[in-house]
Amino acid sequence: MSRAVVVGSGPNGLAAAITLAQRGVEVLVLEASDRVGGGTLTSEVTVPGLLHDECAAFHPTGVASPFFQSLGLEEFGLRWIWPEVQLAHPLDGGRAALMWRDVARTAHGLGVDGPAWDRLIGRSARNFDALAQDVFRPILHVPRHPFKLAHFGLNSLLPAPWAAKRFSTEEARALFTGVAAHKFGTLTGPLASSVGVMLAAAAHAYGWPVAEGGTESITRALVAKLEQLGGRIETGVRVTSRADLAAHDVLLLDTAPDAAARILGDELPGRTRRAYRRYTFGPGAFKVDYAIEGDIPWQNPHVGKAGTVHVGGTMEELVSAGAMVARGEMPERPFVLLGQQYVADPTRSAGASGLNPIYAYAHVPHAWPGDATDAITAQIERFAPGFRERIRQVHVRDTRGLEAHNANYVGGDIAAGANTAKQIVMRPRISVDPYATGIPGVYLCSSATPPGAGVHGMGGHNAANAALTELGA
Ligand SMILES: Cc1cc2nc3c(=O)[nH]c(=O)nc-3n(C[C@H](O)[C@H](O)[C@H](O)COP(=O)(O)OP(=O)(O)OC[C@H]3O[C@@H](n4cnc5c(N)ncnc54)[C@H](O)[C@@H]3O)c2cc1C
Repeated sequence: MSRAVVVGSGPNGLAAAITLAQRGVEVLVLEASDRVGGGTLTSEVTVPGLLHDECAAFHPTGVASPFFQSLGLEEFGLRWIWPEVQLAHPLDGGRAALMWRDVARTAHGLGVDGPAWDRLIGRSARNFDALAQDVFRPILHVPRHPFKLAHFGLNSLLPAPWAAKRFSTEEARALFTGVAAHKFGTLTGPLASSVGVMLAAAAHAYGWPVAEGGTESITRALVAKLEQLGGRIETGVRVTSRADLAAHDVLLLDTAPDAAARILGDELPGRTRRAYRRYTFGPGAFKVDYAIEGDIPWQNPHVGKAGTVHVGGTMEELVSAGAMVARGEMPERPFVLLGQQYVADPTRSAGASGLNPIYAYAHVPHAWPGDATDAITAQIERFAPGFRERIRQVHVRDTRGLEAHNANYVGGDIAAGANTAKQIVMRPRISVDPYATGIPGVYLCSSATPPGAGVHGMGGHNAANAALTELGA
């Protein structure tokens, strides 16, 4: 029987472990933290009884992941729940743009911009399942659906404000640019629309659900599946050198590239070492979790029905904040991604009478040492006057705190690597097999590999398939 060690128990590490165990490989997962799950933990960080997602919160890529779909995670207790409105983008004066599951309803709400929304996003949404077979893989491959991929690719090439300029209203421009801003950093370079087109199309095809009981439920289901297949996990083990590991035929690293280079030491071929050294990290996140009395008093009541709220104002404000963050400057009015998961999943508040958990993080410069709590609160207050008075407790995690919590989030970069055009196309290095390290049997499988950040497990699954091919399994 072949033996595998997987370093790191994020969704990619667990996906790699399950893929290997499904093919009869004996698997041991080693995790530095005392809890399994990496960027999927859920904790009572403000007051007892309120469940806060510490990292990932919304799961368009999780529910659409072909690998997760193949596992039947519902059997292991995972339940996706959708809010009534997938995403709201409030604007000054009580206005808001809303993204519903239904493309037609979203287009109708965008008025004169409805047909343009349908052309830019609707077509990719209708083709999403076919596209998923291509976009969840490394970019260098023979596409299974070349024409659908070409349509998606052409729209993705544009800088986000160019794509948004198909729209004439502030609402539609802000709605699209807010989704594109998940790329982190500048929105004006080539391929800057790719994240926006993909995530908006996913919102219509699959929605932006939450996991009942918190994102950690995804990990609980993955762990149950792995254990059913005989895989083992050890926590509290930080791997610093390959030499310390139990004997193995394959090694998969759910780590950042520079950490992989340290673990592999002199074994790593020079060309891979140089590429991992050149790999760049992007802007950081500053996370604030609030416990609030009742609901957020949004000026526009529809915003209260949304799971995700993009708090950042107009397209021009988002583009300017992204450019500042990319230059290393902290904007006075940052882009804030806000989650009110309890709206879809009341179990998040079930243990604390009258209180609800609010999730928010701002995009900040890489390794920014400051405190963005007041700037985030002020942005929310701008569209929800009276919010501040409802705050009962706050928990914050700055860029250093994020990296201390999870070594993959270098400088607070929650995508484990900058989404530059080069790294969108080729991450972590230029290679036909981006998972290979150049050492026989050793693969990188974290979100520093294709298809990048998100709780979908596809990097781990693809890397494990490459390892299985090498094993001849
Ligand atoms: C604030 C925040 C918000 C986010 N929001 C979303 C969202 O809404 N939706 C979404 O899909 N994604 C979101 N993400 C991103 C998502 O969490 C990550 O993309 C995803 O978890 C990456 O999975 P991974 O398996 O590659 O790595 P991770 O989940 O980062 O796991 C890596 C694991 O490896 C362990 N490790 C690292 N080095 C070592 C070592 N040397 N030895 C042993 N163990 C090691 C770490 O402790 C960690 O547990 C968010 C992330 C953050 C932080």
